[in-house]
Amino acid sequence: MDTQLLPDNFLTTQLKKVVNWSRRSSLWPMPFATACCGIELMATASSRYDLARFGAEAMRFSPRQSDLLIVAGRVTIKMMPVLQHIYQQMTEPKWVISMGACASTGGVFDAYATIQGIDQFLPVDVYVPGCPPRPETLIEGIMAIQRIIDEDGLPPKGKRRPLRVSVEPSYVPAPQPVPVTIGGRTF
Ligand code: SF4
Repeated sequence: MDTQLLPDNFLTTQLKKVVNWSRRSSLWPMPFATACCGIELMATASSRYDLARFGAEAMRFSPRQSDLLIVAGRVTIKMMPVLQHIYQQMTEPKWVISMGACASTGGVFDAYATIQGIDQFLPVDVYVPGCPPRPETLIEGIMAIQRIIDEDGLPPKGKRRPLRVSVEPSYVPAPQPVPVTIGGRTF
């Protein structure tokens, strides 16, 4: 620590450390919960585990107000473009937690439709292991993000891997039915 309390009660520190301290103490998570891990995520924010102790309880459902993406649950190929858009809309600096075996590796869903690890398409900062991870494990993951912020601060330019282009959805919605008139009545 390069902070010190001088005899005349002045506290000196670096501006960078104050900024990082405020940033790590007010994380605003963006939950992307698609499956059972999402229940553990909700439990983490409940009074029993009290995520507010770490300043990260203000879940936001708008990516523009979030700086910590928590992907909790399996992600399919069709979801990934949506998830990438959400990530791109989040404010910088931003961090990503991959929560649980499914998000990190596809888990037991070794199927063509399930992404076998979201880090193929998103820059993941912390992996939270388990199926499901307990709330304590997620809290440890959030503390790991706080340590990254403490040590690194802003992600240096060029450190983050660029997003890989995900498979665009191939589903084309069927055309809406056209009204027909039969015997003077429109259906
Ligand atoms: S890791 Fe386990 S608990 Fe989490 S979404 Fe997958 S199956 Fe559910």
